[in-house]
Amino acid sequence: MPIDATLPYDDQNVFAKILRGEIPNRTVYEDEWALAFHDIAPAAPVHVLVIPKGAYVGWDDFSAQAGAEEIAGFVRAVGHVARTLGLVEPGYRLLANLGRNGGQEVPHLHVHLFGGGPLGPMLSR
Ligand code: 5GP
Repeated sequence: MPIDATLPYDDQNVFAKILRGEIPNRTVYEDEWALAFHDIAPAAPVHVLVIPKGAYVGWDDFSAQAGAEEIAGFVRAVGHVARTLGLVEPGYRLLANLGRNGGQEVPHLHVHLFGGGPLGPMLSR
Protein backbone atom coordinates (compact mmCIF):
# COMPACT_ATOMS: atom_id res chain seq x y z
CA MET A 1 0.00 0.00 0.00
CA PRO A 2 1.67 3.27 -1.07
CA ILE A 3 2.27 5.78 1.69
CA ASP A 4 1.54 9.49 2.06
CA ALA A 5 5.00 11.06 2.03
CA THR A 6 3.74 14.21 3.79
CA LEU A 7 3.03 12.34 7.05
CA PRO A 8 5.50 12.60 9.95
CA TYR A 9 8.31 10.05 10.17
CA ASP A 10 7.22 6.73 11.73
CA ASP A 11 10.12 5.12 13.58
CA GLN A 12 8.37 1.74 13.45
CA ASN A 13 8.88 1.44 9.68
CA VAL A 14 10.80 -1.59 8.44
CA PHE A 15 13.93 0.33 7.41
CA ALA A 16 14.11 2.08 10.79
CA LYS A 17 14.05 -1.43 12.32
CA ILE A 18 16.83 -2.53 9.96
CA LEU A 19 18.91 0.51 10.96
CA ARG A 20 18.43 -0.39 14.64
CA GLY A 21 19.42 -4.01 13.95
CA GLU A 22 15.96 -5.33 14.89
CA ILE A 23 15.48 -6.95 11.46
CA PRO A 24 18.33 -8.68 9.60
CA ASN A 25 19.56 -7.50 6.22
CA ARG A 26 22.19 -8.45 3.67
CA THR A 27 24.47 -5.44 4.01
CA VAL A 28 26.49 -4.31 1.01
CA TYR A 29 27.99 -1.16 2.54
CA GLU A 30 27.67 1.00 5.64
CA ASP A 31 29.20 4.26 6.75
CA GLU A 32 28.33 7.23 8.97
CA TRP A 33 25.64 8.45 6.57
CA ALA A 34 24.15 5.47 4.80
CA LEU A 35 23.36 1.77 4.79
CA ALA A 36 23.12 -0.27 1.58
CA PHE A 37 21.56 -3.73 1.51
CA HIS A 38 20.02 -6.18 -0.94
CA ASP A 39 16.31 -5.77 -1.62
CA ILE A 40 14.32 -8.69 -0.18
CA ALA A 41 12.38 -9.09 -3.46
CA PRO A 42 14.87 -8.23 -6.22
CA ALA A 43 13.41 -6.81 -9.42
CA ALA A 44 16.73 -7.06 -11.33
CA PRO A 45 19.87 -9.28 -11.11
CA VAL A 46 21.35 -6.59 -8.84
CA HIS A 47 18.82 -4.71 -6.69
CA VAL A 48 20.31 -2.84 -3.77
CA LEU A 49 18.61 -0.26 -1.54
CA VAL A 50 20.59 2.64 -0.13
CA ILE A 51 19.10 4.51 2.81
CA PRO A 52 20.30 7.49 4.83
CA LYS A 53 20.86 6.95 8.55
CA GLY A 54 18.75 10.00 9.35
CA ALA A 55 14.98 9.88 9.89
CA TYR A 56 13.54 11.05 6.56
CA VAL A 57 10.28 9.84 4.99
CA GLY A 58 11.42 10.45 1.44
CA TRP A 59 13.22 12.63 -1.05
CA ASP A 60 11.05 15.64 -0.22
CA ASP A 61 11.87 16.08 3.48
CA PHE A 62 15.45 14.92 2.90
CA SER A 63 16.09 17.50 0.19
CA ALA A 64 14.42 20.25 2.26
CA GLN A 65 15.71 19.46 5.76
CA ALA A 66 18.90 17.39 5.68
CA GLY A 67 22.21 19.11 6.28
CA ALA A 68 24.75 19.55 3.51
CA GLU A 69 27.08 16.93 5.03
CA GLU A 70 24.24 14.44 5.31
CA ILE A 71 23.20 14.96 1.70
CA ALA A 72 26.75 14.75 0.44
CA GLY A 73 27.43 11.66 2.54
CA PHE A 74 24.35 9.90 1.24
CA VAL A 75 24.96 10.76 -2.41
CA ARG A 76 28.61 9.72 -2.15
CA ALA A 77 27.59 6.42 -0.53
CA VAL A 78 25.24 5.66 -3.45
CA GLY A 79 28.04 6.31 -5.94
CA HIS A 80 30.49 4.24 -3.89
CA VAL A 81 28.12 1.27 -3.76
CA ALA A 82 27.54 1.38 -7.53
CA ARG A 83 31.29 1.48 -8.19
CA THR A 84 32.00 -1.29 -5.66
CA LEU A 85 29.40 -3.53 -7.30
CA GLY A 86 31.01 -2.96 -10.73
CA LEU A 87 27.91 -1.30 -12.12
CA VAL A 88 29.43 1.82 -13.65
CA GLU A 89 30.87 0.42 -16.89
CA PRO A 90 27.84 -1.78 -17.77
CA GLY A 91 25.47 0.88 -16.44
CA TYR A 92 22.75 0.98 -13.86
CA ARG A 93 19.50 2.68 -12.89
CA LEU A 94 18.85 4.77 -9.79
CA LEU A 95 15.24 5.21 -8.66
CA ALA A 96 13.47 6.90 -5.76
CA ASN A 97 9.72 6.48 -5.37
CA LEU A 98 7.83 9.16 -3.47
CA GLY A 99 4.33 8.94 -2.04
CA ARG A 100 1.17 7.58 -3.59
CA ASN A 101 1.75 8.26 -7.28
CA GLY A 102 5.37 7.13 -6.96
CA GLY A 103 4.27 3.85 -5.37
CA GLN A 104 6.46 4.33 -2.28
CA GLU A 105 5.78 1.52 0.21
CA VAL A 106 8.36 2.08 2.94
CA PRO A 107 8.28 5.51 4.64
CA HIS A 108 12.05 5.89 5.08
CA LEU A 109 13.96 7.44 2.17
CA HIS A 110 15.59 4.83 -0.04
CA VAL A 111 17.00 4.73 -3.51
CA HIS A 112 16.87 1.58 -5.59
CA LEU A 113 20.08 0.68 -7.43
CA PHE A 114 19.31 -1.71 -10.30
CA GLY A 115 21.87 -3.41 -12.52
CA GLY A 116 23.35 -6.67 -13.68
CA GLY A 117 21.73 -6.63 -17.13
CA PRO A 118 19.64 -4.53 -19.51
CA LEU A 119 16.84 -2.92 -17.50
CA GLY A 120 14.32 -2.25 -20.24
CA PRO A 121 12.21 0.87 -20.63
CA MET A 122 12.27 3.46 -17.85
CA LEU A 123 8.51 3.12 -17.22
CA SER A 124 6.06 0.39 -18.18
CA ARG A 125 3.65 1.64 -20.84
P1 5GP B 1 9.34 1.30 -2.47
O1 5GP B 1 8.16 0.76 -3.21
O2 5GP B 1 8.96 1.87 -1.13
O3 5GP B 1 10.15 2.25 -3.30
O4 5GP B 1 10.29 0.06 -2.25
C1 5GP B 1 10.38 -0.65 -1.06
C2 5GP B 1 11.32 -1.82 -1.31
O5 5GP B 1 11.68 -2.36 -0.04
C3 5GP B 1 10.70 -2.95 -2.12
O6 5GP B 1 11.49 -3.18 -3.28
C4 5GP B 1 10.72 -4.13 -1.16
O7 5GP B 1 11.00 -5.35 -1.79
C5 5GP B 1 11.79 -3.74 -0.16
N1 5GP B 1 11.60 -4.28 1.18
C6 5GP B 1 10.46 -4.23 1.93
N2 5GP B 1 10.65 -4.81 3.13
C7 5GP B 1 11.96 -5.21 3.15
C8 5GP B 1 12.77 -5.86 4.13
O8 5GP B 1 12.32 -6.20 5.23
N3 5GP B 1 14.06 -6.10 3.80
C9 5GP B 1 14.59 -5.75 2.59
N4 5GP B 1 15.87 -6.04 2.38
N5 5GP B 1 13.85 -5.13 1.64
C10 5GP B 1 12.56 -4.86 1.92
